[in-house]
Parts: sequence; C-alpha cells; structure tokens
Amino acid sequence: MKTYPEWLKEVDGSLWLTEDDRSLLKIDYKIKEVIFSKQSPLQHVMIVDSYDFGKMLILDGVVQTTAVDGHIYNEMISHVPLTLHPHPKKILIIGGGDCGAAREAAKHTSLEQIDMVEIDELVVKASKEYLQEVSGNLSDPRVNFIFTDGIKFVQEKENEYDVIIVDSSDPVGPAEALFEYDFYAHIKQALKKDGIAVFQSQSPIFHREMLKQTYSYTKELYPGSAVFQAVVPTYPGGMWTFTIGTKRYLIEPEKANVPPLETKYFNQDILKGCFLLQQDLKNLLSQE
Ligand code: SAM
Repeated sequence: MKTYPEWLKEVDGSLWLTEDDRSLLKIDYKIKEVIFSKQSPLQHVMIVDSYDFGKMLILDGVVQTTAVDGHIYNEMISHVPLTLHPHPKKILIIGGGDCGAAREAAKHTSLEQIDMVEIDELVVKASKEYLQEVSGNLSDPRVNFIFTDGIKFVQEKENEYDVIIVDSSDPVGPAEALFEYDFYAHIKQALKKDGIAVFQSQSPIFHREMLKQTYSYTKELYPGSAVFQAVVPTYPGGMWTFTIGTKRYLIEPEKANVPPLETKYFNQDILKGCFLLQQDLKNLLSQE
C-alpha cells in the first residue's frame, strides 16, 4: 500500500487532496495521480494531476497554482504593475517558485533583467519539469534565478529596481515575514525613485485583517497605493487581492497603454476594471 502525506487520502478507491489552510474551511480536490512528491529542507513540495484543475502545485498541503486558473493570478500580479510603469527595465520577483509570474513578466520586451529570488530551489525545479502549463519551462536568458531568502536579499538593495513583484505563499513558515512592516520598507528602499511594488494580499473575504494591514503599510510608505482584484477559483473564497504601491507614477489605469501581450485573462478592460472595489472593501480600507 502507498503512503501519502496527511492531506492525501484514498476514499472508496479514489484519491482526494484535502486543503486545510484555515481551521474552519476544508476544500477537497479529486486527484488522478501524484506526479512529484518530496520534502525540501523548508516545505513539502508536491505536483499532482487533478480532475477539475489539471496539474497543481501543492506546498505543505496548500494549493499554490494550477494549470487551469494559474494564469489569472500570474497575469494580474505581473502585467498590472508592468503596464502602469511607463518604462520598466530591471525587475525583481520575490517568491513565485512556480515561475508563472516570471514567465508573464518575460512577455514584456522592454525588460532587460528579471531577478527572481526564491527561497526553495526544489519548487522551481519541480515546476519547470512537471508543471510546464504554468512555468512554460522558463528559460529566458533575462531571468536570473537567485535561491535565497527574499527578506535578506532586499535588505541589501537600494535604488535598484523599476518594479518589484512579491509573489509569496500564505503568511506561514518561510513567507511569514513577507507580510511584516520591515519587509515593505526594505522593498521601498530597493525600488528606484519612480519604482512600483505589488504584493499578493490574500482574500477580501477570509483574510481581511491581513489585507487591511498590507494596504495600511503600503499607504504609509508610498505616495500612491491601491488594491486590485481578480477571481482565482482555487484560492479560498475565489476573490483575491493585490496591493500596489508607487513612488511616483499615478495609478491611472484608464490612461495606461497595454503593450501587445499574448494573454488569456489580462487586457485593457481588465486593467481598468480590476481597481473597482465593492463597497465593503472600500469600507474596510478606509478604516484607520
Ligand atoms: N501564487 C501563489 C499563491 O498565492 O498561493 C504562490 C506562488 S509561489 C509558489 C510562492 C513561493 O514563495 C513559494 O515557492 C515559496 O517557496 C516562496 N517563498 C516563501 N517565503 C519566501 C521567502 N522568504 N523568500 C523567497 N521566497 C519565498
């Protein structure tokens, strides 16, 4: 008999993955097969093939991205800041081990250098080999992989990047400090004088305090800040937020020019619409 990690169980001859990242909500996915499964020094890395979402990347039992909806998240976290910045050349991605954000960023021909700082090399190796629907087996020479802790990496950088994309996992384990004030301050310092930063800021339904905190840090540190959203079916609650901070450029999506990009989700209309917020989110973000 096969032994599986605790989040995979055989029920009546079928294999089910139970995602249990909040004690009050569990989501079950029916799995066809386990493609890759290994413990790294930091986390358990797994790639499975599922019935509804195709291949999925699972870290410590939590779904990170899938072949079916990964493009929504990855297009939004990269194309929104890269379109609002008029001439990005050198960018940094922190996290993003599935390579989806770097793959999307690489579609911008203006970029000369994409530094990608991921703490866990095994996530990148597994995604490049077994999750090419998301990673595209990224081999663009402008992408420079650096395997270290993003928190330490930005502490030593100053005035270096046009855009910084923080594509972190949930605020537990190695990603916990990616949601703390000091990290946001170091990101600002690593940006050029007119730089733009974007942070994945969790669910507007289930992680409201975390979102409020991310927005308040960004608002305090940057002259321009805003929250935008997309629907990503495999993230708890479906709706997902991103928080953007800009040092100089105004956030004027209606004036930004989307360059020609081969995308499935992002376009000029989505750029305009993603900054429109539902009333309860406006209320939350306006609270002191
Ligand atoms: N899009 C996904 C989501 O929102 O669930 C997450 C994308 S990606 C898989 C997140 C990556 O952040 C993981 O590969 C993880 O190893 C990496 N990570 C976590 N903490 C980090 C840190 N301190 N420095 C750099 N990368 C980190």
